[in-house]
Amino acid sequence: MMQVDELVNTTLKERLKEVFGYGQFRGDQEAIIQSILAGRNTFVIMPTGAGKSLCYQLPAIVSEGTAIVISPLIALMKNQVDQLNAFGVNAQFLNSTLSKSEMNKVKKDTLNGTLKLLYIAPESLTKEENLHFLKKATISFVAIDEAHCISEWGHDFRPEYRKIRGIVDDIGNLPVIALTATATPKVQQDIQKNLQMEEADLYKTSFNRKNLYYEIRAKADAKRQLIKYIKQNKGKSGIVYCLSRKTVEEIAELLNVNDVKALPYHAGLDPHTRMHNQDAFLNEDVDVVCATIAFGMGIDKPDVRFVIHYDAPKSLEGYYQETGRAGRDGLEGNCLMFYSYDDILKLEKFNKDKPVTERDNARHLLTEMVSYANVGVCRRRQLLGYFGELLDKDCGFCDNCMKPTEKIKIQHEVTLVLQTVLQTDQRFDAAHLADVLTATANQYVTSYEHDRLAVYGQGRAYSEDCGYWSSLIKQLTIFGFLDKDVENYGVLRISQKGLNFIEDPYPITIFKDHDYAGHEVSKDEHDAETVPTSGGAAHDEELLGLLKALRKKVAKEKNLPPYVIFQDPSMEEMATTYPTTSEEMAQINGVGMGKVQKFGRPFIDLIAKYVEENEIETDTDVVIKSMVNKSKVKIFIIQQIDRKVDLDEIAEAKSLSMEELMEEIEHICYSGTRLSLDYYINQVMDEDRQDEIYEYFMRAETDNIAVALQDFGDDDFTEQDLRLMRIKFLSEVAN
Ligand code: ADP
Ligand code: ZN
Repeated sequence: MMQVDELVNTTLKERLKEVFGYGQFRGDQEAIIQSILAGRNTFVIMPTGAGKSLCYQLPAIVSEGTAIVISPLIALMKNQVDQLNAFGVNAQFLNSTLSKSEMNKVKKDTLNGTLKLLYIAPESLTKEENLHFLKKATISFVAIDEAHCISEWGHDFRPEYRKIRGIVDDIGNLPVIALTATATPKVQQDIQKNLQMEEADLYKTSFNRKNLYYEIRAKADAKRQLIKYIKQNKGKSGIVYCLSRKTVEEIAELLNVNDVKALPYHAGLDPHTRMHNQDAFLNEDVDVVCATIAFGMGIDKPDVRFVIHYDAPKSLEGYYQETGRAGRDGLEGNCLMFYSYDDILKLEKFNKDKPVTERDNARHLLTEMVSYANVGVCRRRQLLGYFGELLDKDCGFCDNCMKPTEKIKIQHEVTLVLQTVLQTDQRFDAAHLADVLTATANQYVTSYEHDRLAVYGQGRAYSEDCGYWSSLIKQLTIFGFLDKDVENYGVLRISQKGLNFIEDPYPITIFKDHDYAGHEVSKDEHDAETVPTSGGAAHDEELLGLLKALRKKVAKEKNLPPYVIFQDPSMEEMATTYPTTSEEMAQINGVGMGKVQKFGRPFIDLIAKYVEENEIETDTDVVIKSMVNKSKVKIFIIQQIDRKVDLDEIAEAKSLSMEELMEEIEHICYSGTRLSLDYYINQVMDEDRQDEIYEYFMRAETDNIAVALQDFGDDDFTEQDLRLMRIKFLSEVAN
């Protein structure tokens, strides 16, 4: 059992509200947090945007010591650290970009226990010097983000991730929480094996991202379609993924020429430009980023409204993760892919030079991609089915649902497929099954003597086209008549539903494949297209606009991305409930008292002014007094001073000016609490000077600072020097 911070004896839910400003846990968050707090290994598989980060952030905050968060991307770490700092949480990262003194600060804060989360890349974790100090620190637990990087069956394999288990064991006997947004059943098994946590508590929530709209269009006249689409979404943030750096540059330029503010982002840019372009996107100086799919973008922006794949991605995992960057805040998110088989051929060519197993894996992944694009079944059913989650209904919110391909009712063909699976002993993949059905004799078919089976060639009466059978087999998998074999890639087995069907067949509806190649886009075809939305809310658009403009301004001043200030759902709520006091503001989802104190004032003022000018009536009865929170700041300050944290850092953590902090400290001191500021005073003043002031207060008639300043006259003591010494004096003398 970990030591949970006793000082703040509140429940998790209260901490959730207090730190993050959220009123409720989402899905399994609370159970997951309890599990890791109880010291159990925990495995979390949740889609992007479901709120995985909170599952380790909150337990880290309430536990004693520092949680290690292993994450593969430096940009992603920076992003999270910024967000946590904005919430007033001490989180830092350790990687190769840090200067010596930054590094020392990280180590110091870890060793003295003030650091709650330490983000670190696996490469840095393996470094001897880092291991050395981590062994000495109090570590609460280890979180492994993007855990699918462990598996070579995933799309983002990183060999150094396979070393994590060993290193963690080296640091100590620590509970591990592994998290990923993408794990086929095969990858899941791999992760658990490698981390030696087969016994872990597993939390797998639906991958369904209900607010995302999936759409695939033929890649014909794609540039015109692209510009048009983005213009229809004017002012919204979006990402365009392209296959090559060259295309990235080209598309970014194309968009700019067409009055869309866009910047490129790929691994070939120098780090400075890359950082700049990413920040420009996060800060909403540009609307669109064009990026390579080869380069993992650490984009954690919650209000990306569209993700476009200008070129086909290499795998469904990649596609799902990239589209997952849309609509993380639960609002509108449109995912559009331009598809042509030429792109697939290009990708196949890239794979040619890879070692055999890698090439095979890459080919499997690509085949799944092709099938996803072609098959006319609900996109969501296909995607979720791929990740091992079978939906029994169409979603109604994807292009295949809204503009279905031709449907056909069949029965005997289904029986044939299922019989073929049985007669080949459930040991083969779709391509082989299709070959048997169409009597395409090749060395495999003959070597297994499958040309002697009863089903051999039986399918030809229906279709001689292997593609037809592959698609049907795919659809039967999505509909649950066939199961994928987890141990052997691509191998299909018959399910109970399939066995029932053989016993008692019935007609089922399948969809014809798309024909992208034969698709000529007429000039007006897409003019009629409208982008569906998942429904609007009843907020005050005008106020929302004003709030967003203000957020942008504040963000610029503070040099932070706008969403770090407030996220869109919070802003929409403000534009619905019109909070005009700090207390009301703190009630908004996503806004805690910390944020109110940090950023709230100008927003409250703006809303108050707006409410007054427009004579809007608000419910002012529900004012909750803020005494508790006020005293919380004081408790925080006392704790920090006990831990000998520099005053400037304390001020920064609570967004106080030095002046305000001094006032708080004086209050604390005047109300009788003894504070020892020596550690700080010794840094800023030598002993002689300290003595001089101390003596003065000993003698003075009053402790009035103005008087003291006057009395000292030309001696160059600052007001702050005098106030610091007065606190020391009063603490020692009066308390
Ligand atoms: P993931 O890591 O699973 O992709 P994030 O951790 O980035 O997702 O969370 C996605 C969004 O959901 C973020 O904007 C986050 O602030 C928000 N969020 C997380 N938990 C909650 C909650 N309990 N209530 C409201 N919003 C939440
Ligand atoms: Zn659908």
